[in-house]
Amino acid sequence: MERLPLTAEEFRALADRVVDLAAGLLAGLPTARAFPETSGAETQAAFDAPFPEDGLGPVALDALARVIALSRPPGPRFFGYVLGSGEPVAALGDLLASVLNQNVTAWRSSPAAVTIERVVVRWLAEAIGCPGFVGSLTGGGSSANLMGLAMAREARAPANTDGVVPGGVVYASSEVHMSIPRAAALLGLGHAGVRSIRVDGSFRMDVAALERAVEEDVAAGRRPIAVVATAGTVSTGAIDPLRPIAEVAARHGLWMHVDGAYGALAALAIPEAFEGMALADSISLDAHKWLYQPLDCGCLLYRDPGAARAAFSHTGDYTRSLLEDPVERFAFFEESLELSRRFRAIKPWLSLRYHGVRAYRESIRTDLALAQRLAAAVDARPELERLAPVSLSAVCFRHRGDGRQTDAELDRLNQDLLLRVVRRGRVYLSNATVRGRFALRACLVNHRTTESDVDAVVTEVIAASGG
Ligand SMILES: *Cc1c(COP(=O)(O)O)cnc(C)c1O
Repeated sequence: MERLPLTAEEFRALADRVVDLAAGLLAGLPTARAFPETSGAETQAAFDAPFPEDGLGPVALDALARVIALSRPPGPRFFGYVLGSGEPVAALGDLLASVLNQNVTAWRSSPAAVTIERVVVRWLAEAIGCPGFVGSLTGGGSSANLMGLAMAREARAPANTDGVVPGGVVYASSEVHMSIPRAAALLGLGHAGVRSIRVDGSFRMDVAALERAVEEDVAAGRRPIAVVATAGTVSTGAIDPLRPIAEVAARHGLWMHVDGAYGALAALAIPEAFEGMALADSISLDAHKWLYQPLDCGCLLYRDPGAARAAFSHTGDYTRSLLEDPVERFAFFEESLELSRRFRAIKPWLSLRYHGVRAYRESIRTDLALAQRLAAAVDARPELERLAPVSLSAVCFRHRGDGRQTDAELDRLNQDLLLRVVRRGRVYLSNATVRGRFALRACLVNHRTTESDVDAVVTEVIAASGG
């Protein structure tokens, strides 16, 4: 008897239905709610079915409409977190990737996919002004950061001949993303292994404070191993002073890792803001954020593949592979945390071929301009107060209340306000902590967002405040 039966014709009929649903979803995006009107209990009731012992056949797909209805649509008025918009040509590539079911471990198991991934990684490196860097796609910025710091640790604090792994210190600004202390914890450095460096008035790392901290640690007998510069902090979009940090790193023999998960791809549009990034040893970026790719599509870039192999290869037998063809012997697993890997590269490859990099550059420019428009709209309302400069596309602000509240009271007022804004469903904002204060935060990394979508932010916040 045929197992898991499905003919090619049946597949085509199912695929047509899925494509119809997807196209209908896309057509409805301009007017969709920013977040579905549902509760935890409702969502559970919608899906909490028993394990289906007997297959439903094509009827199984009927539930997809419910999946869509209870999902956050990738629409133009979702401004929460750092959430890209899911470019649909890339999504079609993703469908084919799953049907092809390549395991992108090494050229010998997936020749086209490995080659395309290496091409896409080269494109991404060139896009951010770092030609010559190599690397691999990852599940996201968090795993890219973990891999970058694993390489740093192996390069700068390897185990001694007795197998004793010394501790080490990683430096990052107080605005660093949580994935960095988590990576340090996983690498055995502990949360305490991350030295938090204060920021200046624009939320950029204070480089003089960095240098003092390194000198103090050296004097105390600790071992500085890496500095993490953030190119686009997740709260306010600040870009640390990359070249001065690289100079400190060079003076003290530190590995320099750039966390560009949110911001690095904006170098396509404003390369001058990222001057010095190419001096890094490793760089994380997220094509599923500001290159609008469907999740997931992170990337780690590095200058020296030998450092990646030192951290991740356990075959240890490089000489034999040198006898083989250099293309055919290539294996991502020798340079990555991952072994089985999906064909992520088909998304940016297809989507960049379809639209061209110029369209992406212009779209990122539009996001940057829309963020300035939103900042100006906030500044123009006496009820609102901006809490940080807008260097990329994140805008942090709050309601001033009646002018008599304390900061703690304003925190509560703005928390309530955020819940009301989200419940109204017309725009979705998230929150950030800016110098200890609760901020409403809008982040623009969506190629569907227009001026009128952005203008709805202030209108909605004022309306939800009862004003
Ligand atoms: C999003 C983000 C991360 C984490 O990336 P994931 O893809 O969510 O794992 C790390 N750093 C910064 C600055 C980010 O914005």
